[in-house]
Amino acid sequence: MYAIIGAGIGGLTTALAFEKLNIPYHLYEKAEDINAIGAGIWLAPNALKVYEWLGILDQVKNAGNSIDRITIATADLQTLTDSKQDEAKEEYGYSTVAIHRAELQKVLANNVASSNISWGKGLKSYTETKEGVELQFLDATTTIANYLIGADGINSVVRKQLFPKSKIRYSGQTCWRGVTNFKLPEDYNHRGIEMWGKQTRFGISKLSADKTSWFAVAKSKPFLTDNKETLKEDLLKEYKKYANVVTDLIANTNIDAILRNDIIDLKPIKKWHTNRVCLLGDAGHATTPNMGQGGAQAIEDAYFLSKIIATNTTDSPFKEFQKVRYKKVNSIVNQSWITGKVAHLGFGSKIRNMVFKNLPKSLIDKKMHFVYRLDNE
Ligand SMILES: Cc1cc2nc3c(=O)[nH]c(=O)nc-3n(C[C@H](O)[C@H](O)[C@H](O)COP(=O)(O)OP(=O)(O)OC[C@H]3O[C@@H](n4cnc5c(N)ncnc54)[C@H](O)[C@@H]3O)c2cc1C
Repeated sequence: MYAIIGAGIGGLTTALAFEKLNIPYHLYEKAEDINAIGAGIWLAPNALKVYEWLGILDQVKNAGNSIDRITIATADLQTLTDSKQDEAKEEYGYSTVAIHRAELQKVLANNVASSNISWGKGLKSYTETKEGVELQFLDATTTIANYLIGADGINSVVRKQLFPKSKIRYSGQTCWRGVTNFKLPEDYNHRGIEMWGKQTRFGISKLSADKTSWFAVAKSKPFLTDNKETLKEDLLKEYKKYANVVTDLIANTNIDAILRNDIIDLKPIKKWHTNRVCLLGDAGHATTPNMGQGGAQAIEDAYFLSKIIATNTTDSPFKEFQKVRYKKVNSIVNQSWITGKVAHLGFGSKIRNMVFKNLPKSLIDKKMHFVYRLDNE
């Protein structure tokens, strides 16, 4: 029996993949229920491919909105790169889906057998022995599993016990995210836009007929919190040089629907596992959100790990799993880290914009296929 810790995107997808391949498991989540707080995320074709394999692609698509065009632009909406996603559609069968995180988790959780999830069950620690793993929970109960999968996010309790020296890195940037029912112009319906200013960024994507998600990124010291009384005014001031749609979106978002998170990642660690314990998703390789791939990589993890376990061709499935996933994941962590730095250039922003405007299509396509392709062959 595999114990999976964490019913986030990675843990729930792993549960579904294990169910499909008849791998016995139980999922433990510390929250009492699905966390309804959150904003929009993008699911790129590599993530959608896994959901197609799991037979839930239509449910995911129906709960979100397809993004068929991705534009990077300046703060006043001058296009830097504009990629219609036709090529991705042709190659992979679909483009990208923008979806509210809570809606995605609902779809996933609704497809997991409810008897296989325990909510309100936070892991405190574990003890690994030759025979199995004893799990100790915050409510003072214990249970025994054969194997433990830590899908408990960037602040993973499993990782902190397994690799206490692992380090979270702060990117120097903080991110506000909001969801609003403000009506966007038609042109934005199936288009994701990211605008780059001087040391700030703003992104927009529609999630459904009446919901639009936005994010705003700026340089900041870590761990700062907002004064709710002045937050909107502060954001409107910070983004006043952006196109009107930006200030309209901020002005029309309920203050309680604006979240703030510092942008952090996990400094790549050399190993994700022992014989009986393995990290998955953000717990093992959290990335900054600049490429919109953290969740997709957790979803890919679920696909590969379940297949490796089910085919039973190795004594060390966790070792094999890391071997298959390590290169792609770390490349994304590193590229995403650099993208964040480039997007926030102050002094060099004009040169950056010129370089981006003239990027060869072949290079953009190569990068796209590296990220979107699911199987390594
Ligand atoms: C601003 C921002 C934007 C993003 N945009 C995108 C995007 O567009 N596309 C994309 O693919 N990714 C995106 N990501 C990344 C994505 O959100 C994460 O990579 C993804 O959520 C990782 O999934 P996970 O299951 O590994 O971890 P999480 O989603 O963090 O889930 C971990 C789960 O474990 C539970 N848990 C924690 N500790 C315990 C414990 N001790 N016991 C039991 N349960 C526990 C938590 O409650 C949670 O439910 C974004 C991230 C941020 C911050």
